[in-house]
Amino acid sequence: MLPKIKILDEKNKLLKKRSKEVSFPLDEKDKNLIDDALEYLRLSQIPEYSEKYNLRPGMGLAFPQMGILKRIFVICDEVDEGKFENYCLINPRIISHSEELIYVEEGEGCLSVNREVEGIVPRYARCKIEAYDENGELKTYRVREDLSVAFQHEIDHLNGILFVDKIDKKDPFKNKEKMRAI
Ligand code: ZN
Repeated sequence: MLPKIKILDEKNKLLKKRSKEVSFPLDEKDKNLIDDALEYLRLSQIPEYSEKYNLRPGMGLAFPQMGILKRIFVICDEVDEGKFENYCLINPRIISHSEELIYVEEGEGCLSVNREVEGIVPRYARCKIEAYDENGELKTYRVREDLSVAFQHEIDHLNGILFVDKIDKKDPFKNKEKMRAI
């Protein structure tokens, strides 16, 4: 069954706000929302269900996208066909990152942005992130390539930033030659 979750559109002002740090233990409500969001993302990436429920495939969701201004995001990453890895990061911080920048050649997508947007969103090729998990344990993540892009995209949401905000308005492909396409 598809979990019932409401995803805000980019026009909603809440998406421009900075989310607040979370304290532990988590509320039951937040725990349930974490599970629901992960299940929603998983189903959205399985063609059978994305068709059945008319879902746009997505791999990440941040709490502010669901109208809750808390520093929590989830990612459901398809590592192999039909095989998914779940992440839940709370109060995440980028500890260090590569000098190298990358961008998604076909453009980034976002479940809150319901239109095609062209242009380059510069991201670190690799980064090290510290965050708490659902149980309040501090964990370290080393991510690269598309997962690195996804983590940075979601952290931006917690700071009220959408990927479209990072594209140069006058020159959407500015500095292309200084970055690697993935
Ligand atoms: Zn997004």
